[in-house]
Amino acid sequence: RSNAEKFEFQAEVSRLMDIIINSLYSNKDIFLRELISNASDALDKIRFLSLTDKEILGEGDNAKLDIEIKLNKEKKIISIRDRGIGMTKEDLIKNLGTIAKSGTSAFVEKMQTSGDLNLIGQFGVGFYSVYLVADYVEVISKHNEDKQYVWESKADGAFAISEDTWNEPLGRGTEIRLHLREEAGEYLEESKLKELVKRYSEFINFPIYLWATKEVDVEVPADEDESNDEEETSESSSEEEKEDEEKEEDEEGDKKPKTKKVKETTSEWELLNDVKAIWLRNPKEVTDEEYTKFYHSLAKDLSDEKPLAWSHFTAEGDVEFKAVLFVPPKAPHDLYESYYNANKSNLKLYVRRVFISDEFDELLPKYLNFLKGLVDSDTLPLNVSREMLQQHSSLKTIKKKLIRKALDMIRRIAEEDPDETDKNKKDIEESGDDDEKKGQYTKFWNEFGKSIKLGIIEDATNRNRLAKLLRFESTKSGGKLTSLDQYISRMKKGQKDIFYITGTTKEQLEKSPFLERLTKKNYEVIYFTDPVDEYLMQYLMDYEEYKFQNVSKEGLKLGKDSKDKELKESFKELTKWWKGALAVENVDDVKLSNRLADTPCVVVTSKYGWSANMERIMQSQTL
Ligand code: ADP
Ligand code: MG
Repeated sequence: RSNAEKFEFQAEVSRLMDIIINSLYSNKDIFLRELISNASDALDKIRFLSLTDKEILGEGDNAKLDIEIKLNKEKKIISIRDRGIGMTKEDLIKNLGTIAKSGTSAFVEKMQTSGDLNLIGQFGVGFYSVYLVADYVEVISKHNEDKQYVWESKADGAFAISEDTWNEPLGRGTEIRLHLREEAGEYLEESKLKELVKRYSEFINFPIYLWATKEVDVEVPADEDESNDEEETSESSSEEEKEDEEKEEDEEGDKKPKTKKVKETTSEWELLNDVKAIWLRNPKEVTDEEYTKFYHSLAKDLSDEKPLAWSHFTAEGDVEFKAVLFVPPKAPHDLYESYYNANKSNLKLYVRRVFISDEFDELLPKYLNFLKGLVDSDTLPLNVSREMLQQHSSLKTIKKKLIRKALDMIRRIAEEDPDETDKNKKDIEESGDDDEKKGQYTKFWNEFGKSIKLGIIEDATNRNRLAKLLRFESTKSGGKLTSLDQYISRMKKGQKDIFYITGTTKEQLEKSPFLERLTKKNYEVIYFTDPVDEYLMQYLMDYEEYKFQNVSKEGLKLGKDSKDKELKESFKELTKWWKGALAVENVDDVKLSNRLADTPCVVVTSKYGWSANMERIMQSQTL
């Protein structure tokens, strides 16, 4: 086109598009979900702006917040349009030509090797999945503050943008036209599209319509000369029809001209989804399958995996809200990357059914960032800016309740897991869903255990609740994970401390001389082998009425021995000599100890000093 301006894709995008085009990836269906999700995002944006500026929606059709899909079988085109926020020329260049998100290049790399496109939507590059099915794509867009433009590309490294002087004016919003590849003909079938919307986009909060063909019976004047006409009338001699005819004659009062029915094809908008929000429904009436599907749509996850747990509840009182929380089946690859800098809350905030933001990190503390879900509050004000909302006092209450519910939900995974305790085993066997819940907590722990530990460090208020969720191996756990409650149930009579030891691996710790006497005396010792454990234990001082004692540190008491005093006295000279022999800067003190069995002596860390393991961690960080 003469007025087209040419642009090159950012190198990263070009590579991504090459991968998509040449992909052998079989699930090409995902393109539709991505486009519908983009349309829905664009509608959310305009609806949000309209809260503070009513004029912005315009009038008539322009104010219709829906998504419309049309097929053109002859030209092999699918078009998807929305009356969302639209894109200015600048937006088109920026949004459909570059990828701003960090970590994209790692994703492109990963996709190239794995060929798995399931995660494309999570990386903010879902739009490009259109090239799984199309070889030429046009994006027509009109933003309130700019003219109408057409973006087009054949995925050949370049795209063009022209001011749109030939298409019908959109009013506002975006229409995406996919010129399908030869082998993607199946997407021109209405039944296929209906199935896809049902499968992947059921929980979109805007109506999705398909311009669907429909066969209708129409009555046309009967041609009396036609010989087969008589046959038709004689065939249709059912009681019902006769009655109908008589009735009509009665009403009209005079004899009706003869008519016949013929089939005719017309088209009309057919609604494909049910827009009743799942979180407004009664939890008792929502099936597991619906929750799973809802989770997949929230998380933009195309795998078949069921979330590990969910919690759907209504909070009442001063602050009213409904929420659905999910524990995903897997941790995202970058969960702990830039943990302290990134705002990565995965909760969507709605106010009275209107989507407000998914970037509200005030809703959950960082350590619960792995949860997905949604909060819809009737208490928050609608017509204020995001910034004002962020400071609203109700958010604190919401956050507090969300944390409680989240921790309850996680605790329930353990309670329902027959692997966790014998008592539960019996209960669950009776209730019958043994298999499904089995091993779920270990799975949770392997994926998100570190988050629980970070929670213990960060959240003093819920420290005890979080400590209940802690799992570890110990000298008595037999290679399995165990909990503090289980440790306590095995404690020796009169034991006042919970013993633990830190190090790099369990194998290394098993040989530690610090354990000799403890194991001989049948005390249980926890193995902490994760670097974060050293920090964790600086915050976790006690649990229930028991104190934690690092067995490699000063202060280990294994009950009083009547001979202690005597022995101390008789070895006085030796300990004194030792203290003199070792320079003062090397050791603080030399003491007689009852912590050892076979090893003659051991270096112990002072109560407030760094353990040898901590020393090692700090060194590896600075080197
Ligand atoms: P994501 O949706 O995760 O941001 P996409 O690749 O799906 O990533 O889309 C890229 C960007 O293009 C979006 O962030 C949005 O700004 C813009 N965009 C895509 N589709 C539309 C649309 N229908 N209306 C308005 N903007 C859109
Ligand atoms: Mg998208």
